[in-house]
Amino acid sequence: MTGLPVVQLDQLHGIEGPLKVALIDENWCIGCTLCIKACPVDCIVGAPKSMHTVIEPICTGCELCVPACPVDCISLETVTPGRTGWAAWSPAQADTARQRYAFHRLRVERQGAEQDERLAAKAASKLSDLESASQLTDPDALARKRVVVEAALERARARRRNTAGG
Ligand code: SF4
Ligand code: SF4
Repeated sequence: MTGLPVVQLDQLHGIEGPLKVALIDENWCIGCTLCIKACPVDCIVGAPKSMHTVIEPICTGCELCVPACPVDCISLETVTPGRTGWAAWSPAQADTARQRYAFHRLRVERQGAEQDERLAAKAASKLSDLESASQLTDPDALARKRVVVEAALERARARRRNTAGG
């Protein structure tokens, strides 16, 4: 359409092929949840120490869950044999994957911010306990600890604000 020469895809970023989906061998799954963390579109469901499974219609076949599994019980199955590119994967599927990846990133960031905030609040509470028990008698040490804890709290609040805004 543009009249420009066709440029081959860079195979360093993957080789075009048929669409695949991940399958978990339920007999071997130990419920470690590592594949859930590795999946960029949140299409694996399961609970700690319980069998996990893949929601196949939204799996992109990216293979990121495969090396994450410590018992090697995830395999990829071709679902569009002989068809590649847009013959194997529709624009609607690509949009869904993109939206799910955006939400995945947001969720990971939000959970990280919440964890930071929990830890900073715990540190502040610990500092306050030490102060009331008069265990920190050195005023310099107390001031230094207060600065560190306040900075951690502020970082956690800022990260949470950014996440809420994003
Ligand atoms: S192949 Fe990719 S999209 Fe499919 S379950 Fe594994 S990590 Fe998720
Ligand atoms: S990484 Fe493997 S063993 Fe762990 S929950 Fe996923 S499928 Fe099961």
